[in-house]
Parts: sequence; C-alpha cells; structure tokens
Amino acid sequence: MGIFLLAAPASFASETPEPQANALAYALKDRVGPPHPDTIAAYVQAGATETKAHELTDREWALVEQAINSLPPLHQRILEKHLARLSFIEAPASVGTALTRMYEGPNGEPLFDITIRADILDASLSYFLTQKESTLFSDDSSGLSVQVIASEAPALPYLLLHEASHVVDRSLGLTRNSGSFGDMWKDYRELAEPYAQGPLAQSVYRRAPRLPAAKSTALYAALARSPFVSLYSTASAGEDFAELAAWSTLSQRDKIPLIFEVRDRNGQVIIRVEPLKQVAVQARLRAVDAQLSRP
Ligand SMILES: [Zn+2]
Repeated sequence: MGIFLLAAPASFASETPEPQANALAYALKDRVGPPHPDTIAAYVQAGATETKAHELTDREWALVEQAINSLPPLHQRILEKHLARLSFIEAPASVGTALTRMYEGPNGEPLFDITIRADILDASLSYFLTQKESTLFSDDSSGLSVQVIASEAPALPYLLLHEASHVVDRSLGLTRNSGSFGDMWKDYRELAEPYAQGPLAQSVYRRAPRLPAAKSTALYAALARSPFVSLYSTASAGEDFAELAAWSTLSQRDKIPLIFEVRDRNGQVIIRVEPLKQVAVQARLRAVDAQLSRP
C-alpha cells in the first residue's frame, strides 16, 4: 500500500521552525494529518459512530508538538523511518483510544499509521487511566471504585509513547520474532502459568466480561504479586512491552508515579498497588531499557 502525502494544517505550516529544535522531531510533525480512510472504516466497524478526522486547534498542536519532542531518541529515529501518519480522530463512542496500523510500504518496508482519539487531548494522565480502568468493572452494590494516580499533566505524551513503542517493537521484531517475551508469555497472546489460571486472566483486557466491582480488590492484589507494570500489560506480549517501555521513560525521566487504589464508598483506600516499586517489575524495566539502548 502506498503512502499518501499529507499537508500540515495552515496553522502549523505558517510557524517558523526554532533553530534549536531537533530535525527528527520536525520530520515527525510533518506526518501529522487526517486518518487513512481504512482507519476510519476500522473504527466504524468496531462500533464507533459520528467518526471523522479531527482538526487540531493551535493549543492542541502545541500539545502534539510537545508529545513528539518528548519521545526518546530511539523512538524518534524509528518513527522517522516507519511512521506514515499520526492522526487524530473524532470517534466518541469508540472503545479503543488509539490504534497503530501496520502495512507494507512501496519497497516492502513496514509502515505504520498511529491514530489517537481526539477527546483524550483534554484528559490528564490520571483521569485517562482512571477512566480506562473503570471499563474493567460493572457496577454492583459493593461501592468499590478504582482510582489511578499518575499525573495531572496531559495523557497525550504517555499515549504517543505507548503507541510509538509498538512501532519500535514491530519494526525491530522484539516480541513477535524472538519467541516469547519473558516467562509470563506462552506465545504472543497466551499468558503462561500461573497467570493463565489466576485473576489476571479474568479481566476485560484478557477479553473476559466485566468483573463486578467487588472483585477489583483481588484483581489488583494479583497485579501486586505479578511482574506486570499494569493490568493492560496482560493483553498481549506487545502491550506488555509497550507498557514497560512507556513507564520506564515516564517513571525514570519524568518521575511520574503509577498507583492503583481501590476505594470504598467513603473514599477509604482498601488496597493500594504501586507496580513501579515492585522488584520484579523494576527488573523487567531494566531489561527493556537494555534492549532499547542497544545501538
Ligand atoms: Zn497498545
């Protein structure tokens, strides 16, 4: 499939580049443009309604530029080679927040489109992650709810870093080609024991139905005993890698915490889990760092 050349919106094109800005980041900003028709079709097929390309406001452009600038150098280099487009889509009813689509370029090289739902441009990281975790549970009479504490800064740098980590993974063949990614994976999608039989296998992220909120305590207790940095990491080896790569940067460079709290109806904390402080998670963060710092 060919690449479509995209024009940047006028508000961006008229800006004069700052001399100190890095060339890779400028190259990446040129890839921002409307989503490919196939991407819009994929969202519609997944049940999204009122789906269309989102036009970035000046304030949103500034946020997108900041998120691109904050990508680690390896991510920027790989995106410069393999990212065809970065798009924002209006798809309020869609379940997915972001989509990374891979296809073949004119010379057989892998190309990627990253598409992000535009409504998250207004969300803080803590708000975004709390909303995401709430989709795991159904209301029951327990009064329990989950709160994620990370950062009041925008969610976009995390989301772009997570999606860009998929591009890094796929273009370097990290989780698919070199067998399983860590002992916790039987293959790309199947969890190994003991996780395959435990509570971690029972969440929406493992394609199970929503759990009653009363079961949230046991689910986060299982996360605390595991080497996963988040419950979303259990979706596949690819998500596991993307979460580790993203949180490695956010925690070490930006000092952003990641805390999951289950609270009762009075706001009392029932269980508090901080994966970034767990020894097994820290070992895996170091392993991913080592993988990404290879020349
Ligand atoms: Zn992902």
